[in-house]
Amino acid sequence: MAKYIETISAEEQYDIVIVGAGISGLTLAERYASAGKKVLVVEKHDHIGGNCYDFINQAGILVSKYGPHYFHTNDEGVWKYVNNFSLWHPYEHRVIGHYQGKTFPIPVNRNTINILCNETLQNENDVEHWLAEHAVPIEHPKNAEEAVLARMGPDLYEYIFKGYTTKQWGKSPEELFPEVTNRIPIRTNTDDRYFTDQYQAMPAKGYTALFEAMIQGDRIDILLGTEWSDIKNEVISFQKLFFTGKIDQYFDHMHGILEYRSLRFEFETLNQEWYQLKAQENYPSLDVPYTRIVEYKRATGQIHPQTTISREYSTDEGEPYYPVPSERNRIIYAQYQAAAEQLEDAGIYFVGRLANYKYFNMDQAFRNALDMFSSLEGGSTC
Ligand SMILES: Cc1cc2nc3c(=O)[nH]c(=O)nc-3n(C[C@H](O)[C@H](O)[C@H](O)COP(=O)(O)OP(=O)(O)OC[C@H]3O[C@@H](n4cnc5c(N)ncnc54)[C@H](O)[C@@H]3O)c2cc1C
Repeated sequence: MAKYIETISAEEQYDIVIVGAGISGLTLAERYASAGKKVLVVEKHDHIGGNCYDFINQAGILVSKYGPHYFHTNDEGVWKYVNNFSLWHPYEHRVIGHYQGKTFPIPVNRNTINILCNETLQNENDVEHWLAEHAVPIEHPKNAEEAVLARMGPDLYEYIFKGYTTKQWGKSPEELFPEVTNRIPIRTNTDDRYFTDQYQAMPAKGYTALFEAMIQGDRIDILLGTEWSDIKNEVISFQKLFFTGKIDQYFDHMHGILEYRSLRFEFETLNQEWYQLKAQENYPSLDVPYTRIVEYKRATGQIHPQTTISREYSTDEGEPYYPVPSERNRIIYAQYQAAAEQLEDAGIYFVGRLANYKYFNMDQAFRNALDMFSSLEGGSTC
């Protein structure tokens, strides 16, 4: 098992220093330790796992501190890699929405249209005709509202996207880039899976247990509860340094602050076995203050007489969750990216979602770190 240390010893020499103990940092730690290198991981929180950290709460239920995480991938190499460290519980994510007394599948499929728009569409052809009839002819959608109108028309925009997107981003969809809503698929069949990837599962004992298995062996030292900027002058020698935190923070915000949208979770444990039908149920209406309710056991497969749910509220304050897609942030990030490239000659690299100022699914974060290791050290990618 990795050694959890309290301070950095002056005698200890590290080949590799990694800032951040999330997927990106721990994948690099595992790869370098396996290659015989001595690794130091510095993490500001008092736990490993980054955004994916999960733990057993007071009632004995496995919950995620920073929001639910559903693993899905088509990347054979990543799937093979994560299977080295955990057994996996098959889980296909399905989401239902609630709007004005109606319950419907999300993303939009044939049943969603039938339920919300009082239609009786029978097959894929019917759906394609319906979409063609209802879509607003906008050739080049300029924002997230137009992107939905152009694909599925005003009714579905109103019922599913308008309120949810406004709550999630604290901005009207007209103020957001088209990509915010464009990434959500429309299905002409009745497939109600949220993801269609080949591999969809949850680590049998949770993500934190998966990460602990990754850092077995005695070549990794982990310093928790430590902000990098507070100790950076103490770590004087390394061959390579990987920074997985916020890129603007690394450079003391010299080009400005990159904006993030955050979340607040309101947890509740109930004395009943189940609370809702699916792991995730969305509330798109602006009349409901939260965006969704998550019931953890539905995804983890845990058997327990009680259940824990969390209500999710979007906010500007708190942990950095979602990069805000705006022209301002794009310009600022490009300046940091250029500054980061200058540091590669000094053996300093920027990896992961915060350093790339980009939303990564977990498999993309594993892939990004695995590819970084292979590109620097050679050998085949997983
Ligand atoms: C709400 C939410 C839900 C998500 N759900 C899913 C999902 O269902 N499925 C999916 O595939 N992906 C999901 N993701 C994406 C997933 O969380 C990321 O892919 C993953 O966390 C990326 O790992 P990372 O190591 O790059 O970043 P992080 O997990 O953020 O790790 C970075 C680590 O660095 C530490 N750190 C940062 N700065 C410093 C510093 N200066 N000094 C010391 N330590 C520092 C942080 O504390 C953190 O532990 C979700 C993301 C969010 C925001």
